[in-house]
Amino acid sequence: MPHDVDIAVVGGGIVGAATARALGTHAGDHVLLEQFELGHARGSSHGTSRIFRLNYPDERFVRLAQAADTAWRELEDERGVRVIDRIGALDLGPEATETGRALAACGVQHQTMTATEVMARWPLRLDADESAVFQADGGLTHAAAAHTALVDSAREAGIEVRDRTPVRSLVLGRRSVKLELDRGTLSARAVVVAAGAWASAFLTPVGVELPVVPTRETVVYLDAGEAGAVPPVIDYARLPAQGEGGISRVGQAAYALGAPGVGLKAGLHHSGPVSEPDVDDEPDQAIVEWVSRWARSRYKGVGEMIRAETCLYTNSADETFVLERHGRIVVGSACSGHGFKFAPVVGRTLAALAREAAG
Ligand SMILES: Cc1cc2nc3c(=O)[nH]c(=O)nc-3n(C[C@H](O)[C@H](O)[C@H](O)COP(=O)(O)OP(=O)(O)OC[C@H]3O[C@@H](n4cnc5c(N)ncnc54)[C@H](O)[C@@H]3O)c2cc1C
Repeated sequence: MPHDVDIAVVGGGIVGAATARALGTHAGDHVLLEQFELGHARGSSHGTSRIFRLNYPDERFVRLAQAADTAWRELEDERGVRVIDRIGALDLGPEATETGRALAACGVQHQTMTATEVMARWPLRLDADESAVFQADGGLTHAAAAHTALVDSAREAGIEVRDRTPVRSLVLGRRSVKLELDRGTLSARAVVVAAGAWASAFLTPVGVELPVVPTRETVVYLDAGEAGAVPPVIDYARLPAQGEGGISRVGQAAYALGAPGVGLKAGLHHSGPVSEPDVDDEPDQAIVEWVSRWARSRYKGVGEMIRAETCLYTNSADETFVLERHGRIVVGSACSGHGFKFAPVVGRTLAALAREAAG
């Protein structure tokens, strides 16, 4: 039986878009299928901005971020757009020491700064005994611009992009995979499932168990004043006390970054409840209040909350990514709340696995 396409990518978030672009650099008929409109706000890739950073306490992520840095720069050159404002990234608190160690081990230039040095340079408040690690290649990714650049690049390379096209199920054949759509079917030599928080439910029927759990995280946008221009901050030092203000998960770090055109975007990493992707939950008010207080205490000049929203994390146990091939199916789950920055390298890996799967 002839195949309709060589490789189908299911999911048009940042991972699917990056995979489609990477497929476009090789010959073949490939298609990207997204259930909603491109750029929708129901998954993990929406919102104004994302932190780009080499700052990780784990050397594996530092090296992956270095590769991603190169890949984003290539995309920027190709499209003639700026995707990342390279204004640096700051880690505060005890883990910053580990970040400095990992950066040094990877040969990445960085600066350990005292509280006085930090406060002289940016409108931030640190206690006298706190220090920070600043790394200059980090910055703020324009999320929608990054997604658009990847999709445009994929389209230009001949990839067909179909949005509002949910894939209802997969049927495994000996030489192909059938994708059941609302109108008809599509057969492909290989399928990449980059379906974010929807992936588990989609993969279980074809015998692939994904060791991930989706959570719904609350994000707050605040009036920023000068704070919008401060490098993205990850604050490992100040976390809520257990049960404070009704917060059920205290999270791992508070973070904030500029939200171009809005103000300051802030959140409490890994504080959201386990959730289903199609449940339309509201932002968690306890998190909204704690994060707003944290931002006003850390930054000078941060004002009123503008709005809050939710966004899905798809979490693995150790925050690493699932990039696997199961016969003709390739699975790409790269989130745990920090996957955006790695998308171009993750996309290349998934595209390579898919070409192998397509035979
Ligand atoms: C609040 C928040 C803050 C974050 N901050 C950062 C940060 O600062 N830095 C960073 O690097 N990362 C960050 N992340 C993580 C990053 O955004 C995610 O890792 C990334 O967006 C995951 O992309 P994805 O393509 O896997 O998922 P998604 O964007 O959810 O894409 C999956 C897509 O698959 C589609 N789909 C699902 N099922 C089907 C189907 N059956 N048929 C067709 N389409 C389907 C969905 O509609 C969706 O569009 C953050 C995430 C959140 C939520």
